[in-house]
Amino acid sequence: MNDYQFEINLSSTKKQKPAFDQLVFGRNFTDHMFVMDYTEGRGWHDPRIIPYQPLQLDPSAMVFHYGQSVFEGLKAYLTEDQEVLMFRPYKNMERLNRSNNRLCIPAIDEELAVQALRQLISVDHDWVPNEEGTSLYIRPFIISTEPYLGVAASHQYQFIIIMSPVGAYYKEGINPVKIAVQSEYVRAVKGGTGNAKTGGNYASSLKAQEVAEKSGYSQVLWLDGKENKYVEEVGSMNIFFKINGEIVTPELNGSILEGVTRNSVIELIKHWEIPLSERKVSIDEIYEAHKNGQLEEAFGTGTAAVISPIGEFFWNDEKLVINNGETGEISRKLYDTLTGIQKGKLEDKFGWIVKVDEEKAVTSAI
Ligand SMILES: *Cc1c(COP(=O)(O)O)cnc(C)c1O
Repeated sequence: MNDYQFEINLSSTKKQKPAFDQLVFGRNFTDHMFVMDYTEGRGWHDPRIIPYQPLQLDPSAMVFHYGQSVFEGLKAYLTEDQEVLMFRPYKNMERLNRSNNRLCIPAIDEELAVQALRQLISVDHDWVPNEEGTSLYIRPFIISTEPYLGVAASHQYQFIIIMSPVGAYYKEGINPVKIAVQSEYVRAVKGGTGNAKTGGNYASSLKAQEVAEKSGYSQVLWLDGKENKYVEEVGSMNIFFKINGEIVTPELNGSILEGVTRNSVIELIKHWEIPLSERKVSIDEIYEAHKNGQLEEAFGTGTAAVISPIGEFFWNDEKLVINNGETGEISRKLYDTLTGIQKGKLEDKFGWIVKVDEEKAVTSAI
């Protein structure tokens, strides 16, 4: 399986590591990074692991001007036996290629990308934190690097993977968040780039996020871009509701990002034989369900927070408090199960875990 050979250039100095019990999200980076180049005619070439360092790019590099870029986010975890586990990395690389396709970026070899990750994690093994709730956050991304100001697909790219030890998303365990329903700005429209993980989607979401924060809400509930009626996502997470005993999540419609966590939650819910439907959900339906006492739970799903219970929606000048603002039973069970599997504490019945298997990685590195 492991036929991929990467040039490895180890850093001569090691950075001071942050205290693993005080990690903040996305501020500290490991000693090394993976880089691979694309040149038209040659394809992807020179996969390598090098010391973490700034990039040198021409100011006219296309990524700075027209935003042709894609990214991923996934995590690796240290078990009690000091083994490093990745959670569904192939899913992320598959999605990276779907995003690539939408953004006219050449496809990468998904197996090579997972093997690169295996190597990189092995080299920076000491950076996988061991404290309760911590993990190694992994950020693969691709940028267009050709120096050219024409609006066209670039002929040159870089695929880079950086890694960051991160703390528990919520310090005191999972905690319900307050969400403002956004009815002025939209995140995505059908036919746009909502189902691709591309930088521009996040740049255009900042305004709504700022408005929500100013009125004391931590995230935005996004409605569809056409009718402003159907629920799509919450912040940069997928969303689920429990309405009268049934789990409901918006169906994938081209403007919703297909989360790996969303997919895992759906598999768990089906496995537990709880009724589930993927369908359109209007904000009016949520309002009615709340009024009738049938909106039992709501939660967001994503790699960073895993499960993020929602305690309140603010919509049309009304506060809709859910489950007394407390974490619901299903939200709790999903969180415990997913994090249990990720940490190797619970049996992985679904084949989600990929072991880093450092011996394999290190022998093929030479
Ligand atoms: C990344 C992301 C998600 C969650 O995807 P996961 O694979 O579960 O981390 C959901 N919505 C948006 C907009 C995202 O960018």
